[in-house]
Amino acid sequence: MTDTKDTDNNSMAGGRTLSLRRNTVEQGRVKQNFSHGRTKQVVVEKKRKRIVGPGTPGGRPEQPVTAEAPAPQPKPVPAPVEVTPAAPQARPAPAAQPETTRRPPQTPSRDNRPGIVLRTLTEEERDARTQALADARVRDAEDRARAEEQARRQAEIDEIARREREAEEKRLAEAEALRAAEEALKPAAERSEPVKAEPEPAPVKAPVAAPVAAPVAAPKVVDIDEDEEARGRSKVKREVKAPVRAKTDAERRRGRLTIGNALTGEEGRERSLAAMRRRQERQKKQTGLFQQSSEKIVRDVVIPEAITIQELANRMSERAVDVIKLLMRQGQMFKINDIIDTDSAQLIAEEMGHRVKRVSESDVEEGLMGIDDTAENTTPRAPVVTVMGHVDHGKTSLLDAIRHEKVAAGEAGGITQHIGAYQVETPSGSVTFIDTPGHAAFTAMRARGAKATDIVVLVVAADDGVMPQTIEAINHAKAAGVPMIVAINKIDKPDADPNRVRTDLLRHEVVVESMGGDTLEVEVSAIKGTNLDKLLETIILQAEVLELRANVDRAADGVVVEAQLDKGRGPVATVLIQRGTLHVGDIFVAGSAWGRVRALINDRGQNITAAGPSVPVEVLGIGSTPEAGDQFVVVDSESRAREITEYRERKRRELKGAAPTARASLEQMMSQLREGARKEVPVLIKGDVQGSTEAIVQALDKLGTDEVTARVLLYGVGGITESDITLASASGAVVLGFNVRANAQARQAAEQAGIEIRYYNVIYDLVDDVKSAMSGLLAPELREEFLGNAEILEIFNISKVGKIAGCRVTDGVVQRGAKVRLIRNNVVIHEGTLSTLKRFKDEVREVVSGQECGMAFEGYQDMRPGDVIECYRVEEIARSLA
Ligand code: GDP
Ligand code: MG
Repeated sequence: MTDTKDTDNNSMAGGRTLSLRRNTVEQGRVKQNFSHGRTKQVVVEKKRKRIVGPGTPGGRPEQPVTAEAPAPQPKPVPAPVEVTPAAPQARPAPAAQPETTRRPPQTPSRDNRPGIVLRTLTEEERDARTQALADARVRDAEDRARAEEQARRQAEIDEIARREREAEEKRLAEAEALRAAEEALKPAAERSEPVKAEPEPAPVKAPVAAPVAAPVAAPKVVDIDEDEEARGRSKVKREVKAPVRAKTDAERRRGRLTIGNALTGEEGRERSLAAMRRRQERQKKQTGLFQQSSEKIVRDVVIPEAITIQELANRMSERAVDVIKLLMRQGQMFKINDIIDTDSAQLIAEEMGHRVKRVSESDVEEGLMGIDDTAENTTPRAPVVTVMGHVDHGKTSLLDAIRHEKVAAGEAGGITQHIGAYQVETPSGSVTFIDTPGHAAFTAMRARGAKATDIVVLVVAADDGVMPQTIEAINHAKAAGVPMIVAINKIDKPDADPNRVRTDLLRHEVVVESMGGDTLEVEVSAIKGTNLDKLLETIILQAEVLELRANVDRAADGVVVEAQLDKGRGPVATVLIQRGTLHVGDIFVAGSAWGRVRALINDRGQNITAAGPSVPVEVLGIGSTPEAGDQFVVVDSESRAREITEYRERKRRELKGAAPTARASLEQMMSQLREGARKEVPVLIKGDVQGSTEAIVQALDKLGTDEVTARVLLYGVGGITESDITLASASGAVVLGFNVRANAQARQAAEQAGIEIRYYNVIYDLVDDVKSAMSGLLAPELREEFLGNAEILEIFNISKVGKIAGCRVTDGVVQRGAKVRLIRNNVVIHEGTLSTLKRFKDEVREVVSGQECGMAFEGYQDMRPGDVIECYRVEEIARSLA
């Protein structure tokens, strides 16, 4: 088929070389054009082309009924040499006879076989061609048109129509004509032959008549051609006229269309082919005329909670442009990467005729964790050990001793501030330790469904015995179903009494080995380094019993052990990898945060490129700060990551949807308390680091009495976000920021919801305020008055003066002498006063919103572009403390 098609094309091109070129060029164009669209469409296009080729033959079948299948060929052939007689096509014959000299060259070319004939006639051919070329392309077009007409008779009507329409403006008019021609179509097709038989009738009039009666048009065209041929040189004139005829051409074509004769001309602008096709198909559907046209493929479109225009278009196999146009018609302007919600997506998909399958909320997480590993693809992994115990019983010292590093000495006050995780190499294997500041983190992690720990090492000081937190630790370990190893520490101390520890433990249903139980115990001294090896051996022994294994060769997942907003590096999470291997560059989801691994830092502060199972690693590149205990999973695309985190964020908000209260401020809580309306003070706490946040939570916990308590709805690390406000407003909580700030959206949301946000930089102040609220004694006045914010645009380094921040005041005013804070990524990094406030060269008293100014801090230089300078005034108001 394709062959025939090609040959047809050639014939249309009108010459060997020419035709070849055109062919290739045209095909190329087709591809290019379509490559702008979707791949699938490209394929479709190709098919269409093929169809055209075949269509010709296919069309013939139709003709056979009416005339002869070979119609196209006979006609050309006759012209060149002898075939003239070919009965079906009367016109070629007459034309051929008079024109033989000229025609032959071209006509042969139309045919495949002409090759031979051509050679004999080459000179003539050339003459004719040179003339033709010299004249104009228009002429060629006409010639081709003739050929096409004939070919079209056999071609499918739709195909013709598509190719025909070159000019977009004409299309609409043509469409109407088409409809009009509908009725005439069938008869036309039938008549087509007879019409052909009567070629001469309406040569010149053709153009005029064309629009009216489709069938008539075709014959006319033919006639014209013939006339031209007959006149020979008259061609030139014709060609000159050709441009004038442009319209008539179109009309003629319309006519031809309806007749359904002649093969499609390939010279139609290929670029608009796809567009034409679509439009035509649409029209056809409306008219019901061409039902054999390709049916639109209705697809099942899976729509998640949120989807980009591009992704939606892809899923529907539609062009994104069409989706955007559709939205535009509805008065919504979107860009290709904009995200739309499910409802909108569903409307679009349905509008475009597809079936919609909405994914239910929780489905989003489906398959996130991948398939479980089988025994074959796993290898043994290091045990993960959490050290728990009462404060000062030597947890950190023990870990320190094991690591031979001075962690305890480096810690401020010797108190473990943050959760750390370290891996230790022993002769019999490595062990991963998680050092917690107590059991809170362990519990928090467990509460989030994370099972990070394989073994708990319970540290009990031999000189102190079992203490309250020891008991809590035991309970947590038991609740978690994690095996425990008792490390009886400080046995070097003179008053150490390991046996008392053993019996104490008995009372809490922990029976150690030496007492006939199955809980392994080791007497150690962190300070002297006694029995540390034995402890490690015991751990590994216990691990062997547990048969800990993991698959290394898969996308990583794990658990967030600790996360904080690092001033220099942004959000940083310590992640314990549990399965697979995490690589730099991986895209991951951590709770409701996601990111791409920018760097991996091991427990020794070294940059590494990958981390396998049981390896604790600091991950840089998270978008926001996750929470300890959050699940960490590598996903395969950003869109997937977004989908999951957005779902989780929503879910988190919804969880807090109960008991909404219109307004929440400490002051109101106070009065409510006075009235006895409220028995608890709900608060939401955001801090700069996990340690301080937890300290605050613990302090607030202690405030509670039988009558009133402070209920911490949520605490976390990082700036105050809109979702925090949503949560707070849902429960009527006040939002307390410790060394962090609310971002603009959060501030706005808080204002709208009437939620009070309070900022602190001293834990005592915060606790004090909450306490006052709880006892109903809080002084109503704010301690500090917010004046305004300025954003640093640029830093100027001026000799002798130092660094000056070129700023724009974004809201409120900035006043000289007022107090200022430097805020980076919503975290306060400096507090002080302004040494300079300049507008242009002049020192000014205040700068209002929208203006630019220069600012410098007293004794502080580390400002950076993008930082925000918050300006506030401290109001000295006597407060009555509880
Ligand atoms: P943690 O709060 O459980 O982390 O306890 P630390 O590791 O900070 O230790 C608390 C105190 O106990 C520190 O002063 C240590 O020097 C001391 N300490 C820890 N282990 C031993 C030990 O084995 N022997 C003695 N004598 N003192 C110890
Ligand atoms: Mg410690």
